[in-house]
Amino acid sequence: MSCLFCRILQGEIPSRAVYSDERCYAFADIQPQAPVHLLIIPRQHIDSLANVTATDVELLGYLTAKAAELARELSLDHGYRVVINTGDDGGQTVHHLHLHLLGGRSLKWPPG
Ligand code: 5GP
Ligand code: ZN
Repeated sequence: MSCLFCRILQGEIPSRAVYSDERCYAFADIQPQAPVHLLIIPRQHIDSLANVTATDVELLGYLTAKAAELARELSLDHGYRVVINTGDDGGQTVHHLHLHLLGGRSLKWPPG
């Protein structure tokens, strides 16, 4: 299995778990860009947001709502950012769909 995040899901590569259920897994990013930087991934392998279809709509909603739930649990009361980097121009480096949850500091806009 060559997908990095599928290997993390299988426990072949260690990660710091924050949340896990039958549909998704959330863990700490190895190179945090903010005091809170989590990755939320579906257990199902989907390459990219660019490849989601109508059958993935419910899962996408679930992952997004999970990001908000984790943000509440982590008391990110002043706000946070949820990001899905997509494709080369979007800065996607791992080709397994993932939501970044970033918070704990004031985040700049626009991104670089
Ligand atoms: P992307 O650039 O594709 O949006 O995000 C990939 C993210 O995965 C990056 O923020 C990167 O730091 C993170 N990452 C890459 N390899 C690993 C790893 O082995 N473990 C963890 N926890 N995060 C990783
Ligand atoms: Zn994968």
